[in-house]
Amino acid sequence: MTTFTPTEKTRVRRLPDRARYDVESVYGILDSAFICHVGYVIDGQPFVTPTAYWREGDHVYWHGSHASRALDSATNAKVCLTVTQLDGLVIARAAFHHSMNYRSVMIFGTPVKVEDDEHKMRAMRRFVERMYPGQWEGLRPVTRNELKATTVLYMKIEEASAKVRTGPPKDDAEDYELPIWAGVVPVEGAHGAPVADPRLAHDLAIPDYLANLSHLGLKK
Ligand SMILES: Cc1cc2nc3c(=O)[nH]c(=O)nc-3n(C[C@H](O)[C@H](O)[C@H](O)COP(=O)(O)OP(=O)(O)OC[C@H]3O[C@@H](n4cnc5c(N)ncnc54)[C@H](O)[C@@H]3O)c2cc1C
Repeated sequence: MTTFTPTEKTRVRRLPDRARYDVESVYGILDSAFICHVGYVIDGQPFVTPTAYWREGDHVYWHGSHASRALDSATNAKVCLTVTQLDGLVIARAAFHHSMNYRSVMIFGTPVKVEDDEHKMRAMRRFVERMYPGQWEGLRPVTRNELKATTVLYMKIEEASAKVRTGPPKDDAEDYELPIWAGVVPVEGAHGAPVADPRLAHDLAIPDYLANLSHLGLKK
């Protein structure tokens, strides 16, 4: 599959020229971020929970405590998961035309619990390695209790849309002559220098893989 077929739910109606349904765009945005928002309904009340996530093939995964209400409520229920990357603040000549440059994805689906321990362990490894490539092998192994205390959900990416805005502001034709600054202020996620845990028991160098987190959409 190279493109998601727009459905009644995922067809972008508002500014449809910004819509992307190709798998490359959707996966590209998913892989450039690590926090999503999961929306679900409990007794008619919508909740939207921010959480870490990762993608493996045509599934998105997220995890948490086995006591998490957010995870429990989302299991086998209809959810909407969104990911947003802010790329710029778009400053126009009129308040009405201010905007933002962004890449975002919206996915609808029904997550299920990872029941099999081996699958769960693989998923957790993937999560850690996606955040910090090379980290897993050097860690103290996961215990049976830790695995039991962790719920992992996964959801097939079947109904998905992306929406992308790029470029300068779009002002009214007659406003372009006005003496008002307009343009784009680029916005980039960044990480600082790693700060060692004061309880570090050995004199250890910072691993190389923490020096470059660009795979997480973060610049140094
Ligand atoms: C950083 C950021 C800032 C934004 N600021 C504003 C704002 O201030 N005001 C505003 O009106 N809109 C804003 N948007 C756009 C907003 O996300 C919606 O696209 C827009 O409000 C239209 O909503 P709708 O329900 O009418 O869209 P519709 O086109 O009716 O939505 C139909 C379907 O299109 C898809 N879709 C819609 N929006 C998105 C999206 N962003 N990403 C992926 N799929 C999508 C979904 O599948 C949705 O179910 C912003 C988006 C981002 C990412």
